[in-house]
Amino acid sequence: MIKTDLAKFAQKKFGQNFLKDQSYIEKIVQSMSNDDKKIVEIGPGLGDLTKELVKTKQVIAFEVDKRLCEHIAHTFEKEIKQKILTLKCGDVLASWEEGNLLDEEYHLVANLPYYIATHIILKALRDTRCQSILVMVQKEVAQKFSAKVQQKDFSALGVLTSSVAKATICFEVPPHAFVPPPKITSAVLLIKKERSLNDMRFEEFLRFAFVQPRKKLSNNLSKLAPKDVVLKVFDELEINSDKRPHEISTEIYHQLYYKLKEYIDGKQPEQR
Ligand code: SAM
Repeated sequence: MIKTDLAKFAQKKFGQNFLKDQSYIEKIVQSMSNDDKKIVEIGPGLGDLTKELVKTKQVIAFEVDKRLCEHIAHTFEKEIKQKILTLKCGDVLASWEEGNLLDEEYHLVANLPYYIATHIILKALRDTRCQSILVMVQKEVAQKFSAKVQQKDFSALGVLTSSVAKATICFEVPPHAFVPPPKITSAVLLIKKERSLNDMRFEEFLRFAFVQPRKKLSNNLSKLAPKDVVLKVFDELEINSDKRPHEISTEIYHQLYYKLKEYIDGKQPEQR
């Protein structure tokens, strides 16, 4: 199938919106870190971003769609032979389940399939080999990962990200920059990691904390521990018990977790 047909028959189920506006592709490349670590690209698609990446870096690309995989194998025959590009055909999440995406430190650069973007970013935040994450996602998703305390969209994702990294939105990208155009506005998110997430129980604790994001945090946490214990801990940490989840800083969440940890440990999986 030729390239224009592949774009015409883009598969919705794989989140295929191809970035065609070269000016945004260049802006992504300019936002990349300039060390010589390899790049992992998830979903090279028609290869427009890949073409720029392989000019400066060694790239390992994961593509789930067989047709696109064949297209990339054909288009980048020379780069694959020269080992500048390594192409892995299949679901990147399955590769992650099997072990490491790569046996060395890398940067993740991708125009992510939106249906699994949050999942992929969390995986990359936990992956000790991943040093930074530069990804195009739905604008609202980018805002969640980069939100700061007191902002309305400061959620568990913001707490997790700010626990191990610095996140910023580089720029927004309008629907007409893609073929086919998505219904939403996109944004390029840069997450510079300082370390990796390594405590799934803290992630579970945050699920309790944000279970009803507009309700009082003390009420949310009383689904985890007895209310009197929660109020005592709030007292010790001098937290006003009327505060909502988005009004509490990352540092205070870690202190709360430390004090209530035993209740997470004691929860049966079906209660989680
Ligand atoms: N990089 C291209 C671009 O910028 O135009 C394509 C981006 S498109 C938004 C997302 C790409 O991810 C598609 O090529 C899609 O087939 C691929 N994809 C979707 N789910 C995937 C998965 N689970 N594993 C690997 N690739 C996936």
